[in-house]
Amino acid sequence: MVNLDWSKLPFGYIPTNCNTRCYYKDGKWGDIEVSTSEYINMHMSATGLHYGQQAFEGLKAFRGKDGKVRVFRWEDNWERICFSCKGILMPELPKEKFKEALFKVIKENEEFIPPYGTGASLYIRPLVVGTGAKIGVSAAEEFLFLILVTPVGPYFPQGFKGVDIQIVRDADRAAPHGTGRYKIGGNYAASLASGARGAKEGYKTVLYLDACEKRYVDECGPANFFGIKGNSYVTPESSSILRSITNLSLCALAEDMGLKVERRKIPVEELAELDEAGACGTAAVITPIKSIQDRETGKVYTFANEPGPTSTKLYKRLQGIQYGDEADKFGWTTEVM
Ligand SMILES: *Cc1c(COP(=O)(O)O)cnc(C)c1O
Repeated sequence: MVNLDWSKLPFGYIPTNCNTRCYYKDGKWGDIEVSTSEYINMHMSATGLHYGQQAFEGLKAFRGKDGKVRVFRWEDNWERICFSCKGILMPELPKEKFKEALFKVIKENEEFIPPYGTGASLYIRPLVVGTGAKIGVSAAEEFLFLILVTPVGPYFPQGFKGVDIQIVRDADRAAPHGTGRYKIGGNYAASLASGARGAKEGYKTVLYLDACEKRYVDECGPANFFGIKGNSYVTPESSSILRSITNLSLCALAEDMGLKVERRKIPVEELAELDEAGACGTAAVITPIKSIQDRETGKVYTFANEPGPTSTKLYKRLQGIQYGDEADKFGWTTEVM
């Protein structure tokens, strides 16, 4: 194992041994290759550079107490990257190729998989990008699929604590019939400026409302929003949010714990009726929300100072499954080695 200060690692990029790649050319995907280069060589008029033809994924592998390495719900990430690719006219990668590239990159970087008990994990970032040259607006004919990995530290080095967030009404990350349901860089570009402004104003992330009516809660920066209201787990139903695999997992766990799961529109005013609120995604699992300030109206919705009991329970159960401490009754983890 390499010598890193595992529990102090940031959520950032640290070079590893290699990445895996696969090229699409002449109408088909080639063989999986291992590359030690951190750079990619592409034509200056590649569609990925000019027209945003680019999709990505984020998943994690965890080392358990038993020393085994488990990857969480990878088949769902494969399905989702295919969905994103289809949405912006890129070819879907066959499941077997995705699996080969994934398992290979994890195994080849074994010494970068953090030890059990440090709260750290191996972050895995698959990427598809249009590399074929075009000037007229159209899809490329050549693509690169790549998976890079990097060890990341615990998202909450100071412990699981609530954050303050901000509702923005003067910016949208995606439109109802736009690309919000795909995991693509374009949505991120659309949210960078409002996210940076929110950070400057002291907020961990921003909460977007539905772009059409500005009446309903939509996406929480790069994460899904959820709330706990009495005995219910509520999360927005919307055509412009990403289908978070963490959220799907929390829904299943909530149901298993006897909560009612409601996937429906959440009017902004209903935030006042929630007992707990949180953002969820692979990076942090759950980011508990302490307060939500409406930037335009000045209204503030506050929640329990410490993370609420239900969010904490959900967080612990999901992490328990990911690290192999708890029985994986849903079959979410796959042993890699
Ligand atoms: C990746 C992502 C999420 C979280 O999805 P997970 O599968 O839980 O990691 C939520 N929203 C957006 C916009 C995302 O890009």
